[in-house]
Amino acid sequence: MLLTARYVLPVSGPHIENGAVLVRGAEIAAVGDADALKAAHPDEEVRDYGHAALMPGFIDLHTHLEFSAMRGLVDDVPYSQWKIQLMDLESRFDSQDWEDASLLGAMEAVESGITTLADITESGASARSAAKAGLRGFIYREVSTMDKARVPEVMAAADEDIAEWRELRGDGRLEIGIAPHSTYTCHPELFQSVADYAVRGNIPVSMHVAGSRDEYDFVKYGSSRLAVEFRDRYGTGDIGWLPTGVGPVRYILQWGLMDVPNMLAVHCTQVDDADVEVLAGNDVAIAHCPRCNAKLGMGMAPLGQFLHAGIRVGIGTDSPASNNTMDMFDEMRIGLLLQRAVAGHEQFFIARQFVKLATLDAARALRIDDRVGSLEPGKQADIIAVDMSHSHQIPAMYPYSTLVHTANQENVLFTMVAGEVLYERGEWLTLDTERAAARAEEMRVRLRS
Ligand SMILES: [Zn+2]
Repeated sequence: MLLTARYVLPVSGPHIENGAVLVRGAEIAAVGDADALKAAHPDEEVRDYGHAALMPGFIDLHTHLEFSAMRGLVDDVPYSQWKIQLMDLESRFDSQDWEDASLLGAMEAVESGITTLADITESGASARSAAKAGLRGFIYREVSTMDKARVPEVMAAADEDIAEWRELRGDGRLEIGIAPHSTYTCHPELFQSVADYAVRGNIPVSMHVAGSRDEYDFVKYGSSRLAVEFRDRYGTGDIGWLPTGVGPVRYILQWGLMDVPNMLAVHCTQVDDADVEVLAGNDVAIAHCPRCNAKLGMGMAPLGQFLHAGIRVGIGTDSPASNNTMDMFDEMRIGLLLQRAVAGHEQFFIARQFVKLATLDAARALRIDDRVGSLEPGKQADIIAVDMSHSHQIPAMYPYSTLVHTANQENVLFTMVAGEVLYERGEWLTLDTERAAARAEEMRVRLRS
């Protein structure tokens, strides 16, 4: 199959005008000039996307697909308040709700040009929906307990789920990892067990780290809303907690979590220079979630400092319960503008850097950049087409920056993973989307009542 469009943005190199990508089976066979590739392969089926950009699919480094039906349910409150209110509502979900909500999330991901996601789930609904949709992903089994005595049973249950979820797809699109939820929901012994487990089995780990000032204050001083209100609601109010005197990054360092082979820390807004050194020294990757961090008042991650220290960083949307949409264009644009607003001309990011953060750099963060993240021969055919024909997008002078400054998720025309078309101009080829949308509406009515 030969995909053609006005622009090809390989990410690994400059854009190609009137370009094409030749797909053979699951892989990219060639990238180049459309006329030349058509002449060389006259019998190939051609799909033309017109005034659009062909680019690698987005790699969303932080999602919770199963929270998609909670979109906008708790809006306009700061992080800990949001967390507490959401937790109260979660209890009204049954297992079928989690499944259907995650299908809605998978539907949005596919429609928004996300081809790989790093998702944290306890129920496994995200794993099943990602598998059904045909998405590539790292699905992390969430674990949490503040009760030391419960650590063995929590780990045993996770181990069982991880083995089961590994069977969901036999084609290597899904990798299963483990995710200790956070500093304020996990006993240190759980961190140690997760670290041992991940090192032993070479299992990827993801964790929310240093995401809010309340989390920082909880770990360092034993104070904030997370120390009192949250713990009472969460049922851990009677389990002792002493201030540790250090911030979240150095706290988890003590428990071996950074010794694991493939660690992805999420948020990292509350970090100082020494923390950045620790993260870099331990080769921890970071999921930077600029829009969620801003929306919930979680703070601003020092992106320039991360990159300067050589940390592998990519972009994550977080769940629709916190961020409302899984729109990687919004994420790139707002992320870029926030950096420019704060850093000024000192460290002036350009649009193309953010396209790379959302694709190739994110692949590096997951250690899968040998397979995905850019349009190059031999890589997996994870490709999207983004419409750039609208009046607010033409003329496009520099397609990488046009993409960041003018496009949105609804401009995605086509999504392909490993050579399989998942979405094409308003049609989902792998998912029953009517049911997912209808069930989301039902859940909303119940959650409101
Ligand atoms: Zn999260």
